[in-house]
Amino acid sequence: HAKRQGRNTYSFYSENLSQTMIRRLQVENGLRRALERRELAVVYQPKIDLASGECTGAEALLRWNSEELGFVSPAEFIPVAEETGLIVAIGDWVLLHVCQQIRAWVEQGRPAMRIAVNLSARQFREPNLAQRIVEILHLTGISSGLLELELTESMLVENAEEAIAALRSLKTLGVTLSIDDFGTGYSSLSYLKRFPIDALKIDQSFVRDIPESSDDMSITKAIISMGRSLELKLVAEGTETLEQIEFLQANGCHIAQGYYFSKPVLPHLFEAFLDQRQSLARLTGS
Ligand code: C2E
Ligand code: MG
Ligand code: MG
Ligand code: MG
Repeated sequence: HAKRQGRNTYSFYSENLSQTMIRRLQVENGLRRALERRELAVVYQPKIDLASGECTGAEALLRWNSEELGFVSPAEFIPVAEETGLIVAIGDWVLLHVCQQIRAWVEQGRPAMRIAVNLSARQFREPNLAQRIVEILHLTGISSGLLELELTESMLVENAEEAIAALRSLKTLGVTLSIDDFGTGYSSLSYLKRFPIDALKIDQSFVRDIPESSDDMSITKAIISMGRSLELKLVAEGTETLEQIEFLQANGCHIAQGYYFSKPVLPHLFEAFLDQRQSLARLTGS
């Protein structure tokens, strides 16, 4: 009986394992064709200035609707794209696509907004990244001041000297640099001082349980006051409730992003969001 159970246990695990492997291969194969099949789209999530209530920009987030697999979350396909190197071509497409969208918004006469693009570790290590960004800015004719890049702490800590050099070459272009998911990686505070960055995005895991978790409130306050004293912009991710917004406002956080204001949405819905807020501001005379 024990043997039988053992064998069942074994096959249960191996079946699970091979299912995981099959899915991984399906995602990889699908991703190889996603660009040419035009299955990728970019959605935009507003970033709101907590002092003025104005939308100062947005984060661009990639979406993949695969013909075979349906909607696949970035949490699943970005790591596969990263491991296979496909992220270099995909990331390049995102940068070009977003800059073309920024251009369209400029041409519509909209107030200047800064749009943030997530960079992957692999992309960040590409020796010609800064050069490629210059090309894309020229191609689309937008100012580098309208583009922001989000990087994670792990990308900077791994090879600090090289990372600083890469950041400097990006910074020289005039793009804004921010650290994403701040507080979840190896936040070396001394590195923070040396990196030419503009903003810290407080990870949503610290924001989620405000105001229930007094620990998370303390951590969030500490990040805000440290960031402010380094003259960085503080952005809170994953804000879902008014209580969270009020807490962040009261503690000096500059910008918030999250479902409380809007989910990430397609360009036409982002435009509707902007138009609605503008007419609301006119009505209330602010
Ligand atoms: P991230 O850059 O930290 O993006 C924030 C994530 O939080 C997004 O998930 C967004 O949809 C989600 N989010 C925003 N507001 C809320 C909220 O109020 N509550 C909750 N629960 N979640 C919220 P998404 O779009 O699934 O993206 C996941 C991650 O995938 C991103 O995390 C980023 O690391 C990566 N990613 C997405 N697009 C790209 C891309 O174009 N390039 C690269 N390299 N990575 C990307
Ligand atoms: Mg991000
Ligand atoms: Mg984040
Ligand atoms: Mg994240």
